[in-house]
Amino acid sequence: MFGEKPKCSVCSKDIEDGDEVFVKMRYPKRKGFTEIKAYLKNEGRFICENCFHQNKSG
Ligand SMILES: [Zn+2]
Repeated sequence: MFGEKPKCSVCSKDIEDGDEVFVKMRYPKRKGFTEIKAYLKNEGRFICENCFHQNKSG
């Protein structure tokens, strides 16, 4: 995910530099931020601001 161009997991829009995004993920069982970073690569899904607000109201 990181190192490649990230995309919104809902609308597949390219995430641009400076865009506000949301990350959807399941909280890992084991704690620790370094683990969360690794975890994001496998489990994290970006959601663009647009789709995030749509989900909220819908
Ligand atoms: Zn989107």
